[in-house]
Amino acid sequence: MPQIINGKEISAQIKEELKEKVAAMKKEGISVCLAVIQVGDDPASSVYVGNKKKACAYIGIASLSYELPEETTQEELLALIDKLNKQEDVDGILVQLPVPEHIDEDAVIRAIAPEKDVDGFHPQSMGALCIGQRGFVSCTPAGIIQLLKRSGIEIAGKECVVIGRSNIVGKPMALLLLRENGTVTVAHSRTKDLKEVTKRADILVAAVGKPRMITREYIKEGAVVIDVGIHRNENNKLCGDVDYDDVAPVCSAITPVPGGVGPMTIAMLMNNCVESAALKR
Ligand code: NDP
Repeated sequence: MPQIINGKEISAQIKEELKEKVAAMKKEGISVCLAVIQVGDDPASSVYVGNKKKACAYIGIASLSYELPEETTQEELLALIDKLNKQEDVDGILVQLPVPEHIDEDAVIRAIAPEKDVDGFHPQSMGALCIGQRGFVSCTPAGIIQLLKRSGIEIAGKECVVIGRSNIVGKPMALLLLRENGTVTVAHSRTKDLKEVTKRADILVAAVGKPRMITREYIKEGAVVIDVGIHRNENNKLCGDVDYDDVAPVCSAITPVPGGVGPMTIAMLMNNCVESAALKR
């Protein structure tokens, strides 16, 4: 049986470490504060925002909550971000995506000061990652690196294949694996003979957004398989981009869904907030 990479356990470990760090910072008079903005009342977004605020409370990070109505204009939202950019005691600003259609998402991402961009979505943060400079890294791929490292899985020298090239998962994932000295291939919807490409992978990251698409025919025997996907199957149960039951017997390590990559995203968001506060002082 493969090693089951336990994201629940590893994220809990990271949160404990952060809790201690925040307590130590408090003793030195340094507090940490995250501003969370939600526009509209999309139920899934409300759940994500609620979970982020809960994690803040657990770790000892103060959270400022802005629940804005659906009809909020882009100007109003940008004005709030501008105010929070200037507010000394705010270390991180998070706008829960997606925003309503009348608001330009890119303009919102660009408006957040890079030094408070704890989601790591700002073009400056992405550029810094690309050229190996300091900057915040998108939380889900950063969490995957932690999962690999803390599970004792070596990245250097390995053939790594990332399926997906989105700005929030695929691209930063590929750059992070490269930073860790993996040999990286990025596959996408125009990749020819995807199975041939994925079968080269010692480490395969599936961020394809298609429920249980990745079956054992895509896997090299003994590969490490990281499943980023989150979907509801026909029985309303959570499943990933990987067909877990089919793939688990042929791989050496695998992340389950739920309890794999998912819990890491919030842990890394908290990590970015703490880092922001520490860097600022
Ligand atoms: P996107 O839809 O933005 O990107 C999907 C990527 O997969 C695209 O690059 C697309 O290629 C590629 N793709 C689609 N179909 C195929 C195919 N048949 N063969 C090869 N490549 C294909 O998704 P995200 O990156 O935002 O998210 C990916 C998954 O991860 C989703 O299930 C999402 O719910 C989940 N997710 C989970 C998070 C977590 O915390 N665990 C956080 C963020 C996302 P192309 O560019 O050519 O269109």
